[in-house]
Amino acid sequence: MQAQLNTSLDHLGGDGYSAEELFNKMGRGTAYTYDDVILMPGHVGFGVNEVTLDSKLTKKINLRLPFVSSPMDTVTESEMAINMALQGGIGIIHYNNTIEEQAALVRTVKRYKNGFITDPIVLSPNHTIADVDRIKSENGFSGIPITIDGKMGSRLVGFVSNRDVDFLEDRSRKLSEVMTTDLVVGQERCTLSEANLILRESKKGKLPIVNDNYELISLCSRNDLKKNRDFPLASKDPVNKQLLVGAALSTRPHDRERLRALVQQGVDCVVIDSSQGDSIYQLEFVNEIKKEYGDDIQVIGGNVVTSSQCLHLIKAGVDGLRIGMGVGSICTTQEVCAVGRAQATAVYHTARTAAVHGVPIIADGGISSSGQITKALALGASTVMMGSMLAGCEESPGAYYFQDGIRLKKYRGMGSVEAMEKGSSKRYFADKKNIVKVAQGVSGAVVDKGSVSRFLPYVAQGVRHGFQDLGVKNIPELHEGLYGGSVRYELRTHAAQREGSVHGLYSYEKRLF
Ligand code: GDP
Ligand code: 5GP
Repeated sequence: MQAQLNTSLDHLGGDGYSAEELFNKMGRGTAYTYDDVILMPGHVGFGVNEVTLDSKLTKKINLRLPFVSSPMDTVTESEMAINMALQGGIGIIHYNNTIEEQAALVRTVKRYKNGFITDPIVLSPNHTIADVDRIKSENGFSGIPITIDGKMGSRLVGFVSNRDVDFLEDRSRKLSEVMTTDLVVGQERCTLSEANLILRESKKGKLPIVNDNYELISLCSRNDLKKNRDFPLASKDPVNKQLLVGAALSTRPHDRERLRALVQQGVDCVVIDSSQGDSIYQLEFVNEIKKEYGDDIQVIGGNVVTSSQCLHLIKAGVDGLRIGMGVGSICTTQEVCAVGRAQATAVYHTARTAAVHGVPIIADGGISSSGQITKALALGASTVMMGSMLAGCEESPGAYYFQDGIRLKKYRGMGSVEAMEKGSSKRYFADKKNIVKVAQGVSGAVVDKGSVSRFLPYVAQGVRHGFQDLGVKNIPELHEGLYGGSVRYELRTHAAQREGSVHGLYSYEKRLF
């Protein structure tokens, strides 16, 4: 009996297939997506806390978490980008706005200092107590610095807090009459711990930070001091310690000006945003940027899904590639244009090609769980880009609203009619001169996911558990297993996919963490 059982390594090798066998031999001609594929468990010889997820966004930019937020106007503005970077990922600021607006969003991220509010609400001495009341009811705080003209960056002349205005009956009185002018301030170069010390000693609630000309730079809050946390994985520039941030732009001639404005604000990478990135316009633009800025500005090209598209962009000089066509949750490109590729197949082939040239790839779109992130990384991606996963977080632009008792936020494709009407028509060929706009996306809503600061650690831990099950401790080991054949894959039938998710229950509640 024992002799009949083949226990040789050949037999063991029969558990699943290498990615090469799956995508290049058996699966040639068929396109698979994440859900079609499942990973075989390996041997667990270490604890989950030994798993690290450090990776490369581009040739030069390293991240501690392989997560990127999408350049979409319902996903990434400065608040999302700050919080993505604090967690160890990075945000790419969208460009469905004016050059000045986008540059200001980049500036806010670059100027962020943990514990300092760099864009506090400011009033002038001519505002009234009623203005303070309005700010309090809208935002919840009442500590307001007063500058000479009510603008940030102008000379600080006073401060108004609850204590100055609480018992005053006449709410039309000017702030110049009630504000505190005997101020305790911090100097521009003071560190957070120095600011904390001053706050503690002065027993004040807020500490305005000023420069040598007594102009307001930022504000420090006692309450923040109490909840101040460390962000050990934060993505920072190793030299000036500012948070890393990216920004998207198009290949249109006027976006050369946008590029200059972004560079001026210290953007770390730009994403050339096109649904079909293998175009003469993009190749020329990449060339231009590389010639002018060299390695200082990392350029991510895309989107592409085939090896030959990748090679064109790599030859033009990109530092990273964004992979995905028609797979985003809000996207209708494959339906409208009949062009695209299922994401698992696209990621595998492009990553394999790009790896030879040392160019990391971002698997963009179609991610809705930590398991799909693990699959994307196991197919060769270095990072994943997420839209719908993050659009319901507190840090995305837009307000929550209720529908049927459920707390939602708006999420829309950048090629949806609604977004194009706001200005994003560049990506989806709906030039203003053209009369017919062809939408390649929809607008919808996503469910509240709470703060990125709780959600991303949960997602990351899910990925770490996946790595532990696979028996790999980090992304380079995973990629070695991918190309060496030790990481094994199988395809799932429809029934297997059903079996692999919750089934057969009358009802259930899905709590994520
Ligand atoms: P206050 O004493 O009424 O100003 O409010 P708290 O100190 O209790 O809370 C202020 C909270 O709001 C802190 O966590 C601040 O970081 C946050 N915050 C965000 N933006 C601003 C702003 O523009 N001004 C102030 N005062 N606080 C802000
Ligand atoms: P998600 O994470 O929601 O599945 O996909 C987000 C990605 O979809 C984005 O990063 C972007 O590449 C892509 N995308 C965003 N808006 C549109 C759109 O309107 N049409 C298409 N085809 N793709 C979009």
